[in-house]
Amino acid sequence: MPELAFTPTRPLPYGRQFISEADVAAVVASLHGDYLTQGPTVGEFEKQFAAYIGAQYAVAVSNGTAALHLCALALGVQPGQRVITSPLTFAASANCVRYCGGEVHFADIDPATGLIDLAKVRALLEAHPKGYFTGLIPVDFAGLAVNLEEARRLADAFGLWIIEDSCHSPGGFFIDSAGKEQQCGNGNFADLAIFSFHPVKHIATGEGGMVTTNSEALYHHLLRLRTHGITRDPADLVREPDGGWYMEMQELGYNYRLPDLNCALGLSQLARADEGLARRRQLAAQYDAAFAHVDGLTVLAPGRPGHAYHLYVVQVADRKGLYDFLKTKQIYSQVHYIPVHRMPYYEGLGWREGDFPLAEEYYAHCLSIPLFPTLTDEEQGYVVACIKEFIERHAERSEASLPQH
Ligand SMILES: *Cc1c(COP(=O)(O)O)cnc(C)c1O
Repeated sequence: MPELAFTPTRPLPYGRQFISEADVAAVVASLHGDYLTQGPTVGEFEKQFAAYIGAQYAVAVSNGTAALHLCALALGVQPGQRVITSPLTFAASANCVRYCGGEVHFADIDPATGLIDLAKVRALLEAHPKGYFTGLIPVDFAGLAVNLEEARRLADAFGLWIIEDSCHSPGGFFIDSAGKEQQCGNGNFADLAIFSFHPVKHIATGEGGMVTTNSEALYHHLLRLRTHGITRDPADLVREPDGGWYMEMQELGYNYRLPDLNCALGLSQLARADEGLARRRQLAAQYDAAFAHVDGLTVLAPGRPGHAYHLYVVQVADRKGLYDFLKTKQIYSQVHYIPVHRMPYYEGLGWREGDFPLAEEYYAHCLSIPLFPTLTDEEQGYVVACIKEFIERHAERSEASLPQH
């Protein structure tokens, strides 16, 4: 084994935020301003984010989970209603249905992409009377966009709404049947789309989230739900105002607002979003090349156009072995995800091991390795060298059991 020419000076997690001096200055300026929350920076962030994504409207909220909850509320999810999502996602994609008393159902993944398999969604829909399911929550897993044109066709045939969970994919796109790029969250096919600004995601605001849509009605409803169900808009009032202070709480909403402070950081981050995305794609292409001829390691969905690369996922036979080995090298990889239906809470609702075997098989072998804009070429080279070292040491053991796609 050749000596490594480079050792990193910092731990290497699977993802991390990139805070520039301009970001710091933007937050400081916000602190000196008149509004810590409910000021004009919120609307400015919404406007610029909507433009970036290519949607007509955006509503900033306190985190991605709140975004999902508000979407489920705005679409009227009721106790007993059934909604389909992917088992391979963060629990919040499913939990939002539970917040409203709805039932979560799953369709298994396509193991070549990690995305919900729309053929399996169709089979599930066809196995029940029309109206049995009310909604679909596809997830642009790892940054690869779901084909929402296809999803929309299904949704229209079966009377479903769509919430696109785009947390992994700001700047990602799929190519539609006319050969056109369709950006994640642009609202052309989904009723609503959501994003998160958690530090591991593309754009960081500490905590934060956004809903995008092309529906003016849903937009206005989301604005009201975000702030207690209260409106001051004269056009929406049901009674005559008795003074300048007048407002109405018209339905049960929440305080899911995003402060101006966070929006100031978001605006500054958004200005660098394309740069960060380009670096993610460059790093992913370099990983693809480095791993192309490594026996015993499979890359998830390499070289797909439009991939936004929130995660770079490899699959190996001895996943725990690789995870533990990398940890000794200061490389903190992560597993995305333990399938949602295998969580004790969802098993308590009746789901069992074996229900979605492809997601379970995927989970058994997947590992997200460091991918973030400030990862240097040297650091990436070190990650590659460590992974190759592990694979070479375990060559014999790995051969038998690696999934082949
Ligand atoms: C991060 C994430 C969320 C939740 O976002 P928070 O801002 O952490 O609440 C939801 N869905 C997916 C797929 C995510 O990755």
